[in-house]
Amino acid sequence: MRLKSNSNINGRLWGWDPPLKSSYDAVIIGGGLHGLATAYFLARHHGMSRVAVIEKRYIGFGGSGRNTAIVRANQRTQENLPLYKEALEMWPVLTRELDFNLMFYNCGNLNLAHSEAALKAMRLQVASAQIYGIQSQLVDPEQCKTLIPALDISDRPRYPIYGGMYHPPGGIVRHDAVVWGLAKGAARKGIHIHQGTEVTGIGVKNQKIVSVETDKGKINTSRVLNAAGGYSAALSYQMLGIRLPISVLTIQAMVTQPLKPLLNHVVSSGAYHCYANQTLKGEIATGAHMDPWPNYTNQSTARYIKHQAEAVTEFLPCLKGVKFMRIWGGLADMTPDMAPIIYGNDPIKGYYIDCGWGYFGFKSCLVTGKYMAKFMADGTCPNILKPFTLRRFEQHRLMGETAAVVNYSPDN
Ligand SMILES: Cc1cc2nc3c(=O)[nH]c(=O)nc-3n(C[C@H](O)[C@H](O)[C@H](O)COP(=O)(O)OP(=O)(O)OC[C@H]3O[C@@H](n4cnc5c(N)ncnc54)[C@H](O)[C@@H]3O)c2cc1C
Repeated sequence: MRLKSNSNINGRLWGWDPPLKSSYDAVIIGGGLHGLATAYFLARHHGMSRVAVIEKRYIGFGGSGRNTAIVRANQRTQENLPLYKEALEMWPVLTRELDFNLMFYNCGNLNLAHSEAALKAMRLQVASAQIYGIQSQLVDPEQCKTLIPALDISDRPRYPIYGGMYHPPGGIVRHDAVVWGLAKGAARKGIHIHQGTEVTGIGVKNQKIVSVETDKGKINTSRVLNAAGGYSAALSYQMLGIRLPISVLTIQAMVTQPLKPLLNHVVSSGAYHCYANQTLKGEIATGAHMDPWPNYTNQSTARYIKHQAEAVTEFLPCLKGVKFMRIWGGLADMTPDMAPIIYGNDPIKGYYIDCGWGYFGFKSCLVTGKYMAKFMADGTCPNILKPFTLRRFEQHRLMGETAAVVNYSPDN
């Protein structure tokens, strides 16, 4: 007996693999959070359900299933702040809408400052956030300690704590729950999710998208979204000759053995290139700056394990002696200004791009999916996405998000 496509049989989230059709109204390359969110909103807000998500491995294989699940809205620039504010507000809404527990844990984020210069940069960032109605405040070392009693605020560490930026509305969300919830929501609305299917080419005629080639057959379509994460730039260039200013670097992360609750906020330090939070299972999940050389590997390195152990125990010394249990890596698609590329219909009609997310693609997936779906449905770029045009690079209009990260290091 053949089971029906996309039915919710035997408790499976999105049923069995649907047959690959020869034509769809839109094809989305990449079954990560950005691809799945766009598919979901195309169906939900625009009645477009003849849509295929094509994923070469399995949904969540890319950064979407490998990130450290931190969400926040206290970005730095006027272009990014409204986007991330709306993104943060969407988690509880989507939890209800999808009828799926995304495990949003609103624990708040504390960024540590280890120099006067870092505090100055944070003051600017706090003020910018407040202009957009985003809760963010400067705190002194004692207030940092009140928030996280395990912090060492003495002058013992190499970089003593000068203060911090506290952002109560942020927190963590369970990343794989978001992947599954969106896949379930999209499939229920008739979207076809094809795992184990690779896009191998994109057909263009008279500067318009006409088809997508996959290793399972050809699909006729007039709209394609490149949401291939770390592979998006290679794909764009190899299939269409369009260069994207993206470097691909590995980010590594790891978790410790489960511990009793000790870290009730996300804590991060630009100086130590280190951030940490405690998962609902009790593990300390910790991540760092990306590897300093471009590559396409998901492997981890001994150098990084050493760095991370040294860094996190500098400001949380109670973690000394705790065992790391798992370590992994994922790809980050980095643009020169640490802001994404969200673009479409130029120079090829029907070709849309949503990539270049670097560190920030988890927290932004719902809001970008919502507006990218609108862009693909009516062909006009929504105002909130306009600043992220690919053309900003040739117009020398780079955004200032990079400063929000590097300013915090006393070594810079
Ligand atoms: C260790 C780590 C920690 C991170 N922490 C955070 C964090 O705390 N907060 C945050 O906001 N962000 C974080 N990020 C970044 C975030 O995970 C990514 O920006 C985000 O997942 C990107 O999602 P995506 O949907 O664009 O791409 P991806 O999730 O990478 O999905 C792209 C998909 O495209 C598929 N694909 C590629 N080529 C093809 C092809 N030819 N045919 C078919 N399919 C193809 C891939 O298999 C992949 O599944 C982190 C990333 C890493 C690696």
